[in-house]
Amino acid sequence: MSNNKTYDLCIVGAGFSGLVLAAYAARAGLLVCLIDLNRLVGRRILSTGNGRCNFTNKNMGKEYYYSNHNLDFISDDHEELVSFLKELGVIEKDLDGYYYPITNQAKTVRDALENEINRLNISVFLDNRVTDITKEDDLFTVVTNRNVFSAKSVCVASGGLAAATLGSSKIGYKMAQKFNMEVTKTAPSLVGATSKDICLKELSGVRAQGKVTYRDYSCEGEVQFTKEAVSGYPVMCISRFIGFDEEAGTLDKLYVDFAPYLNGYELKKELKTRFERNEKATISQALVGLFNEKVAETIISYSRIYNDTMVSQLDDTDIDALSKNIKRFAIKINGTKGFDAAQVTAGGVDLSYINLDTMESTTCKGLYFIGEVLDVDGICGGYNLQWAYSSAKRAAMDLIKEF
Ligand SMILES: Cc1cc2nc3c(=O)[nH]c(=O)nc-3n(C[C@H](O)[C@H](O)[C@H](O)COP(=O)(O)OP(=O)(O)OC[C@H]3O[C@@H](n4cnc5c(N)ncnc54)[C@H](O)[C@@H]3O)c2cc1C
Repeated sequence: MSNNKTYDLCIVGAGFSGLVLAAYAARAGLLVCLIDLNRLVGRRILSTGNGRCNFTNKNMGKEYYYSNHNLDFISDDHEELVSFLKELGVIEKDLDGYYYPITNQAKTVRDALENEINRLNISVFLDNRVTDITKEDDLFTVVTNRNVFSAKSVCVASGGLAAATLGSSKIGYKMAQKFNMEVTKTAPSLVGATSKDICLKELSGVRAQGKVTYRDYSCEGEVQFTKEAVSGYPVMCISRFIGFDEEAGTLDKLYVDFAPYLNGYELKKELKTRFERNEKATISQALVGLFNEKVAETIISYSRIYNDTMVSQLDDTDIDALSKNIKRFAIKINGTKGFDAAQVTAGGVDLSYINLDTMESTTCKGLYFIGEVLDVDGICGGYNLQWAYSSAKRAAMDLIKEF
């Protein structure tokens, strides 16, 4: 079915970035249509932040993002997003710099964006899967499984490949290639690592503070162990590198530092002090209070010491072995849990083909790309929704100027 109108802007994807762009563009008077394959706008928002939506972070900067491209252009301002949402009625809660809606419900953010779209009378076409975009004589045609739309400009806000059940497709990458742009390799990010390492039999169920290192990348926080996976904030933040290596068949081991707050020298001193003070204790007893019990047992057994060995029997070689296993416990990994379990896609539409002030394609005038479909991924902490917002705002300002 053909829609008779010619829209000023047709947005492919009514996720966070598409909704933000629609709101800004319609407020400036552009005739906007939003298309999504889901039956609900902003469906993915409902799952963010464990259902609470961590939408931005006080600590902003390019160091929280990854891309194959130079990220000097990133100058995200969390206050702008906080104000934008506040205007829609969403009051923020600042938890140590991590921002959530005060209601603790991601639904609040989705509903507020939907209310704004309705208030602005934006045409929304749900259950419409975009299959093609063409351009002829300065006019775009956007084809879905149900409709054909005509528009003066098009913005691809179709997201990445993560969590397919929440709505995802490769349309953004396909259209970028169709319009002579390149797409970088993609990998699942913000996801746990899978492992068949025997140590997980012992560590399963543990949640422990630690610093996780994969190659040159480290992150600190709560590490979680199950029988077949290592996850938690620090693993998620570096998982993109595991994802790319898995794809390339070049996986390395993951290392956990169970005492990141002590350097090697301090740790040995701490161990020696404990052993001197508890001369008549076993090694297990002497480590009480330093680690989770299962972690202590695993470290002791990997250091080839029996749990009931008296500390008076330990020599410097034992202390070296303990220190090594505490500071650099090696875990063989098999890869990540994959795109379906991932929160974000690393890689995407190559930024070399995007004007980074306006988010317009450099190969096709009037065609814009925003949000996760691009080769930018943030770590955990509200950075990905912030990027979705900032890129949408950049596109909006340009479209409004052109209008
Ligand atoms: C479980 C989970 C938790 C997360 N938690 C957080 C968090 O707390 N903080 C944070 O910053 N980030 C979080 N993220 C990441 C964040 O949700 C995304 O980075 C962000 O939503 C990207 O916005 P976007 O608009 O680019 O894409 P999306 O929000 O994915 O929107 C893209 C839209 O395009 C639609 N679409 C795709 N293909 C087509 C097509 N062919 N035709 C029509 N429509 C199409 C999709 O249905 C979707 O609605 C989380 C992600 C997940 C999965």
